[in-house]
Amino acid sequence: MDAKEFREFGKAAVDFVADYLENIRDDEVLPNVEPGYLLDLLPTEMPEEPESWKEVLGDINRVIKPGITHWQSPHMHAYYPTSTSYPSIVGEMLASGFGIIGFSWICSPACTELEVVVMDWLAKFLKLPDHFLHSSEGPGGGVIQGSASEAVLVAVLAAREQAVVSYRESHPELSESEVRGRLVAYSSDQSNSCIEKAGVLAAMPIRLLPAGEDFVLRGETLRQAIEEDVAAGRIPVICIATLGTTGTCAYDDIETLSAVCEEYKVWLHVDAAYAGGAFALDECADLRKGLDRVDSLNFNLHKFMLVNFDCSAMWLRDANKVVDSFNVDRIYLKHKHEGQSQIPDFRHWQIPLGRRFRALKVWITFRTLGAEGLRNHVRKHIELAKQFEQLVIKDSRFELVAPRALGLVCFRPKGGNEVTTQLLQRLMDRKKIYMVKAEHAGRQFLRFVVCGMDAKASDIDFAWTEIESQLTGLQEEQSLLARKTGNVADLTQHFQVQLSTENASHEKSQ
Ligand code: PLP
Repeated sequence: MDAKEFREFGKAAVDFVADYLENIRDDEVLPNVEPGYLLDLLPTEMPEEPESWKEVLGDINRVIKPGITHWQSPHMHAYYPTSTSYPSIVGEMLASGFGIIGFSWICSPACTELEVVVMDWLAKFLKLPDHFLHSSEGPGGGVIQGSASEAVLVAVLAAREQAVVSYRESHPELSESEVRGRLVAYSSDQSNSCIEKAGVLAAMPIRLLPAGEDFVLRGETLRQAIEEDVAAGRIPVICIATLGTTGTCAYDDIETLSAVCEEYKVWLHVDAAYAGGAFALDECADLRKGLDRVDSLNFNLHKFMLVNFDCSAMWLRDANKVVDSFNVDRIYLKHKHEGQSQIPDFRHWQIPLGRRFRALKVWITFRTLGAEGLRNHVRKHIELAKQFEQLVIKDSRFELVAPRALGLVCFRPKGGNEVTTQLLQRLMDRKKIYMVKAEHAGRQFLRFVVCGMDAKASDIDFAWTEIESQLTGLQEEQSLLARKTGNVADLTQHFQVQLSTENASHEKSQ
């Protein structure tokens, strides 16, 4: 392919993407394909002769698009949003055009320095403590990782290495393997699966401590666990707290957790993968309480900042702790400006050697939307979630399971786990909206998350009509079945739903 053809293909691809995103509501959010659909459609060998890009683009429409789950659709309400925006897509394309791998400053000075600039912009935008800025006096700073999982793993590994060094200094009688065998880390039972996985990868047990009834992990629970471990000769290393848990967007109590971590010299990392975007809002200032006492923090720009995956910001209070843990050198990696604090070699701050020019899409997105545009985006998702919450409250057949938090509403039809499962199954079969379930203390519920770069009030109404009409359909079906079969189980199920509906109406009328 020469430059002329690239221009044609590239322009056609931009048109394709613009058409796709502009008309995204026309497609059902879930694809209508069975496992193996694509394997049956494509040849088993690559083509021997080159094919024209027009054929390839045609096939993207014909075979790829039908197998896409439309994450950018405003009818997507599962997981958390995976954002994108036109400027970010262009940034991604330009970064691919440069085709660089910026693992050290010399490998593309702009890649490193732009990352330093945008990470400081972002830290200020989110009102993070000054010590996280590259431009501050101290050893802190921010870096872009691929995902929250990588950021958490980096924190866990760095904390582990720091703990090994310091414990061996104070206990020279112990061998390194003895020390490593005693390490232990903490998080809440509400934390994301990536935290447990980081423990597996770091070969260090992570105790998932019970969050309270309100899904929040507090200092007293951590203190009790640490005291038990210390008494048993174990070495507490790190606590990974969450601001915005995946299940219910609960906020761990950073202030009490940090007090315990300081007392026991335990690293405190905060996973704010989703909720971090709200730090920027004055009305959410409470979320930032205690962040001045944490050692590291991560926030996914690809969730709330209209930057496309992958782009996960991580800040360190003392970046030297990570650099010292991960610094493995070779003569071919050296350059004469190494070690200058203003120009970090970010390869020491991450797991891979190579690194993408992610700062470019961040810079382009921030400049073209402005801080005000980003804040408005977060506020819009919050407002739309409030709209959905009101619809749940008004329908007595449903109940909220946790307080609405940012763009997430956790709710369920009254009547137990079985009704929740059946309702979700009906919705999934119809493919018009996409939600997932979560569970706490044996109670299953549905998570409704506002997603998409351009979600509107009418999309919320669309989703609600779909949900409540499917519950009506389910109730009618169950009542018909119960009448037909006279089956006790069917009747029980039917009456459960009916009963909860009646109770709810009664409660409402009181
Ligand atoms: N942490 C939280 C709170 C999350 O909700 C998620 C994913 O939704 C993650 C971590 C994992 O994010 P990533 O896919 O960027 O690793």
